[in-house]
Amino acid sequence: MTLAHDCSDKIEFTVDYLVIVRGAYCMICELEDDCCIRVGSLGKTKFRRGVYVYVGSAQRGIEQRVGRHRSDKKKRKWHIDYFLDEAEVKAVIAVPSEDKETECRLSKSVHAIAGASTPLSGFGSSDCGCDSHLVYFGDEDLESVSETVVYHLSMLGGMYPEKMTDARKSGRKRR
Ligand SMILES: [Zn+2]
Repeated sequence: MTLAHDCSDKIEFTVDYLVIVRGAYCMICELEDDCCIRVGSLGKTKFRRGVYVYVGSAQRGIEQRVGRHRSDKKKRKWHIDYFLDEAEVKAVIAVPSEDKETECRLSKSVHAIAGASTPLSGFGSSDCGCDSHLVYFGDEDLESVSETVVYHLSMLGGMYPEKMTDARKSGRKRR
């Protein structure tokens, strides 16, 4: 595996490494405009434009799961699938872990960051005791939210958050 430890945005994982990494992840998403989204069984909700952080987990590999979230062809399964019809994933922070509780610890930690709020109770937390796994950061800068999340997570004992680079995207121009 290749894992460059560097605090810049240039951190890169090889795809081979990410496929097998299990654990939790934070997706930093941007919603460009206020909009109404029907979030599965939670119903229609108005979301304000801005930056959102979604905390999830993938026991079969973070890269595979995030790739699925980013795909336009998927069937909607989770609340985040509906949300991503409108919002775009801008950055992903992976937290390798074998512990299923990690996802909820991360979510609670992200909720505790100054400026964070809960946009919709029950989002992503049908199977746990959390209020929500989606956190709203208003009009804050994407990059600074991303840095703040990495910082806060690294303060938790035993957590080693790493910013992921999308290997499929890095080699080609964006649309
Ligand atoms: Zn939870």
